[in-house]
Amino acid sequence: MRDDNCIFCRIANGDIPSRTIYEDNHFRVILDNGPAAKGHALVLPKDHYADLFEMPADAAAEAMKVAQKTAALLKEKLHADGLNLVQNNGEVAGQTVRHFHIHVIPRYKDDGQKIGWNPQSPSDAELDAVLKEIKD
Ligand code: AMP
Ligand code: ZN
Repeated sequence: MRDDNCIFCRIANGDIPSRTIYEDNHFRVILDNGPAAKGHALVLPKDHYADLFEMPADAAAEAMKVAQKTAALLKEKLHADGLNLVQNNGEVAGQTVRHFHIHVIPRYKDDGQKIGWNPQSPSDAELDAVLKEIKD
């Protein structure tokens, strides 16, 4: 199912032109137009799911297969030294487009990018409390 008000639905289904590097019946992979590094690509399902939580498990599994293929292609063609997969869910997590997508970001020595977080230093008791909260 697609949402005509969603820009990634329109791109994924070919209504808006994009720099497509791969397409099949269910996915389109495009170049991000605000790349973190050369070859930064986005895996877009053609069906509309706002985020990972809305996605059926089989579609999520297929998306990861497409991301893996894309990663191999970019590594080979662009001679990447490494690669990040990034997948944001919700505004607080940095999601700006509410249509599920996986970022495939080739990385190069000295590309000057930093993708990550500031590690916190919880006590053992705090970590144990989180574990209990998740498992109870
Ligand atoms: P996120 O912050 O995870 O929602 O990522 C959205 C990404 O989509 C950003 O990296 C944008 O640069 C990219 N983006 C937004 N609009 C377009 C577009 N029309 N074509 C290509 N990439 C886009
Ligand atoms: Zn959409």
